[in-house]
Parts: sequence; structure tokens; C-alpha cells
Amino acid sequence: MQNQMISSLVAGIGVVAALGTTACSREPSAESREPSAEWVDVSANLDPAKTPVYEGDAPMKFTFLKDMRKGDALTLSMFSMGAHSGTHIDAPMHFIRDGASIDRVPLASLIGPARVIDIPDSVQSIDAAELARHEWKGARRILFRTRSSVRGWMTSSTFHRDFAYVAPDAAQLLADAGVQLVGVDYISAEQFGAPAPATHRILLGKGIPMVEGLLLAEIRPGEYDLIVLPLKVSGYEGAPARAVLRKRD
Ligand SMILES: [Zn+2]
Repeated sequence: MQNQMISSLVAGIGVVAALGTTACSREPSAESREPSAEWVDVSANLDPAKTPVYEGDAPMKFTFLKDMRKGDALTLSMFSMGAHSGTHIDAPMHFIRDGASIDRVPLASLIGPARVIDIPDSVQSIDAAELARHEWKGARRILFRTRSSVRGWMTSSTFHRDFAYVAPDAAQLLADAGVQLVGVDYISAEQFGAPAPATHRILLGKGIPMVEGLLLAEIRPGEYDLIVLPLKVSGYEGAPARAVLRKRD
């Protein structure tokens, strides 16, 4: 029965493909002009059971106020969480006194070409020396795929202190080169326990937003289109965001 269904389906596809070929011979179909690659979601789930919360930060709480599965007339929920939960954007205001708030971060920084750079699992500090080992110059947006992706840390509720971070000397090089956005695959780009938030100050001080908590486990290094859009919270220093990547040819 199943086999019959499959073979008639295959026959159907064959007819469609044949018709498609005829149409294609006259003019290229709209589909053939579309980029071949698909958008891939690189946002972490906002789920207290699966998502790490930075040590000392506010816990994520998700509550159904009404629930149709329990007999209510509708389903309605509320969320409570830190602004830096899951995949999120740091606006300059996070560490710069008069810096732009999240609603004022320019879309131009958040949408456009991005380069994913693979950092070996053995590397915790992405410093100037490590940066020099990679092709990063000329990239407008740089996303670091590190040990955090390899180890699945963005999908585990356990907070790890030894995540890979962007060291201040590397941040300075990126800022001086005019990079528009810097991204990392754990919930902070700053070394845990750093004496001062130097990396944040350098990047945010130049008006370069940071995207933290990207889910890059399935992403290979290379050139992508990036769209990362934080919630438009007026006058605050950061917000969760949805981030998607599409491979460039
Ligand atoms: Zn942050």
C-alpha cells in the first residue's frame, strides 16, 4: 500500500518536473533566481530547562496565566527574565554611560554580511594572537564559533565559567578595523571574572553592538548573511533577539 502511494507520488513529481523543464527552457523560473541556501535559526531557545543564565543574573520565568489545556477560554502567558537572556544584543548603554539604548541600535549593524570564524576547542582567550591566525580582515560582522558550540553549552542550563571570550586586545583590533558587529556563541563575550569589562567598553564605546548567546553548533565557518533583531525595548541596555544566518555563495 505504502509502496503504491510512493510510486504514484514519484510519477506525479516526474510529470511536474517535465512540465517545469519545458517552462524553464523559455525563461528562468523565479525559483532559480532565489539564493540556494536556506535561512538557519541560530537563536537559543528561551527555556529555563535548556538555556544557561549568567551567574547572578535574573532567572527566566515563563508562566501560563490562562491555559486552554486546563479548561480556560484562552491561553495567555507572561515572561520574566534578564535582558541578556539567551541570544541577545548588548547595546552601547550596557557599559557606556550615555550610550545608545537597544531601541536605537541601527539596523545597518544588525543586518548584512557576516563571517563565522571557527576557534579551536583548546582556545579560551580569543586575543590578538589568536585573531592573527584567522582571516578576519575585511569582514563587516564577525561571529566566533568556539568551544561553547562544540560542547553544546548554549543548550544546557548549566552555567560554565570557562567559556571562550574576546580579549581586550582583539576587541581593539576589531573596533579599529571598523567592524560593525561582534558575535559570540555563549552568553557573554567578556572573560568570566575579568577585573574590568574592557572588551565591552572597547566595542560598545565605538558604538559596535554585540550579539551574545548565538547557537552556532551546526554552523560551519564561512560567509553568511545575518539578520539579528532584538526586541525594541525603549531606553534599556539590551534585549533578547532572534538571529538567522544564510550561507553566501
Ligand atoms: Zn549581554
